[in-house]
Amino acid sequence: MKQQDYLVRAVLGANQARVFALRTTNVAREAQARHLTSPTASAALGRSLTIGLVLGAMLKGEETVTIQIKGDGPLKGIVASANSRGEVKGYVGNPFVDLPLNREGKLAVGEAVGSGNLYVLRDLGLKDVYQGAVPLQTGEIGDDFAYYFAHSEQIPSAVVLGVLVGLDQKPIGAGGIVLQLLPDAAADQAFIDKLEAKLANMSAISSFFAADGTPEDILEEYFSNLNPRIIDTSPVRFRCDCSRERFEKGLLTLGRAELQELVDLEDQAEIVCHFCTKSYYFSNRELKAMIRELDT
Ligand SMILES: [Zn+2]
Repeated sequence: MKQQDYLVRAVLGANQARVFALRTTNVAREAQARHLTSPTASAALGRSLTIGLVLGAMLKGEETVTIQIKGDGPLKGIVASANSRGEVKGYVGNPFVDLPLNREGKLAVGEAVGSGNLYVLRDLGLKDVYQGAVPLQTGEIGDDFAYYFAHSEQIPSAVVLGVLVGLDQKPIGAGGIVLQLLPDAAADQAFIDKLEAKLANMSAISSFFAADGTPEDILEEYFSNLNPRIIDTSPVRFRCDCSRERFEKGLLTLGRAELQELVDLEDQAEIVCHFCTKSYYFSNRELKAMIRELDT
């Protein structure tokens, strides 16, 4: 992919709405390559990573946000986690879910997700965690987050997310738009009517990015008569912050008895990161050294 992924933040009208427009084609491709997801799972994961990056862009400093989509469908759930630096990671419960296209001839994301709940956990540091939860509406992710913003955060919002998967099963275009009314817009029905007319035409966002469109092009194409003004632009990417040290700490928290059992039964340990599928190997000698560390 020649183009970089990035997010554009803009306002419309007289500060009546804010828009996040982002291209995530490379994010979706990297997620597919790491998890070997089927097309349906790639779409579900790519959409979740895209909205995760938008939630990340709403954070400050060292805060992080984690999305959990717990549905009863064959995908067996989605987790995505993002920070304010434009980094996101994530996985699905069953990456190989294989369903026929839905009635509209599209990847059956809603069916794969099923019904259940959507959770948003914001870690604001100092153990201050905010959690919002809403029931899933369609499982198509975009609709579910529009509902989440409206009901859990009381911000009327439109969310369009898309991942286009190519014939080689790899994502070839991905991105999203999140549009939120700001308090000043509440009384301006004419502005809201204009916005709704625009949004009705905004379904093919993944094709737009597959055809090398940019987030700025989207703003221009859909909102040119609403005076869009770009606030800032920032890169986004798939990145996992796992490390050997972190998994070593995790092993130490198992405690002496369980570590000894691991040595006795398995001789060694291989731990695979859920988020990025990187594996960490701990030898018999290293595990025994950890047990000694716990003994001291
Ligand atoms: Zn990882």
